Amino acid sequence: MIDSELTKRYDVVVVGGGPAGIGAAVAAARSGAHTALLERGGILGGMMTSGYVQPILGAVAPGSFYDEVVALLSKGHEHLPPVVTRNGREVQIDVEEAKARLLRVVYESGVEIHLQTPVVDVVMEGERIAGVVAGTAMGPCTFLAGVVIDATGDGFVAARAGAEFEIGRSQDGRCQPTTIEFTIDHLDPDRAITCFGGSDPVTLPNGKKYSELCKEAAARGELPENVTIVRLHGTCYPGERNVNATQANGFDILSARGLVDAELLLRGQIDQIVAFLRKNVPGYENCRVKVTGSALGVRETRRITGIDRVEDVDVETGTRRKDVVVHNAWFLIDIHNPAGGGQAEKHSQPAKPYDIPYGALVPRTVTGLYTAGRCISGTHRAHASYRVMAICLATGQAAGTAAALCARENLLPHELDYHLVQEALLRQGCTLFDPA
Ligand SMILES: Cc1cc2nc3c(=O)[nH]c(=O)nc-3n(C[C@H](O)[C@H](O)[C@H](O)COP(=O)(O)OP(=O)(O)OC[C@H]3O[C@@H](n4cnc5c(N)ncnc54)[C@H](O)[C@@H]3O)c2cc1C
Repeated sequence: MIDSELTKRYDVVVVGGGPAGIGAAVAAARSGAHTALLERGGILGGMMTSGYVQPILGAVAPGSFYDEVVALLSKGHEHLPPVVTRNGREVQIDVEEAKARLLRVVYESGVEIHLQTPVVDVVMEGERIAGVVAGTAMGPCTFLAGVVIDATGDGFVAARAGAEFEIGRSQDGRCQPTTIEFTIDHLDPDRAITCFGGSDPVTLPNGKKYSELCKEAAARGELPENVTIVRLHGTCYPGERNVNATQANGFDILSARGLVDAELLLRGQIDQIVAFLRKNVPGYENCRVKVTGSALGVRETRRITGIDRVEDVDVETGTRRKDVVVHNAWFLIDIHNPAGGGQAEKHSQPAKPYDIPYGALVPRTVTGLYTAGRCISGTHRAHASYRVMAICLATGQAAGTAAALCARENLLPHELDYHLVQEALLRQGCTLFDPA
């Protein structure tokens, strides 16, 4: 229902159209809620599209929206051999296809999509968030909601509403570095290696470990400061690689100045990294930049404090939670060094498939709000696992499902019985519990 041109009313408003926001909006709409998705950029997909981040990493228990997205984005690429590394299953996607396919799946679920609609403020009724204010082509517009979902990655909505949050690691507040990913083509597909990270044992034809080659080039100053490994992910096409290597440490990317400074630094690193590849890596002699991410790749900012949180021990030991809403979430504890090159803990550390509890999506100090994706409640180390896209899609689905229930039952998130969320997720096909 439209109250006026500049005030609209919904059951659920999702802010941010990345993996988490897409999962949330689709789940809410399919659950029967009148749902709007507000995205500040011109496309959906978040880091997956505007950041040119691929492959999709991580895992969750079968039957979730992640499986649907994998099937959707794998269409036409079924012939590709499955890629499994220390990172687990790597789902390679064509980012350009993803832009169109994700938009369509969200549209067809009945979500009202608002692109180029940055949310700039919140509407509060005491401690309850009652809506958000966004810039639109018509001018500022108020989107009122029964429940708002913050899927901005940065926890912008929650912070603006006054929610408590943490940033970075506990000892100094430093966050993981930012990166601009880019795709190169014109490789010799018969000779060009791939490399998933510093612990990849891949060797060059002369027997040298590629990771050693990178370290030596870094020591010689041939690579940008703090770049000690040039990750080369396969794409859907043999003569291409997605390069995850540029690195900016220590910028406050929640400030305008920090954002631009990081962007300037990272864009300046791309030519140097390409020159390193052309000179040193067989099969890369003629590589050229095909495309770069149009949005800065931000790994870590705010983690909104919830009524519960994902703890280090959960990720390390695979804890089961009675109020589980994402089961068997799995990815390594992958902390890109906040204060130097490589990994903060030498290598990414092992994790065991763990549960994400309902309470990690429910902010402690603001109500009417869920979080989804990388801004949910967890420790710095746990975040380094659940931040990957498979798990963000699934926390989005859980938040969207819960928000639709709140709207239907006229309840606030902290009043909702998590059993109802679990029942709804099970009906959607999600697996939430181990076999008896
Ligand atoms: C360099 C890099 C490499 C990575 N590599 C991988 C990888 O290989 N595989 C993997 O699975 N994961 C990878 N990740 C992690 C993963 O991409 C992100 O953690 C994940 O995309 C987070 O999902 P999200 O939906 O929470 O946030 P995002 O993907 O960041 O999406 C948030 C969305 O919210 C929008 N938004 C923000 N603020 C507002 C606002 N005020 N109003 C409206 N819209 C707003 C943004 O424009 C964006 O579209 C990588 C991350 C980075 C940065």
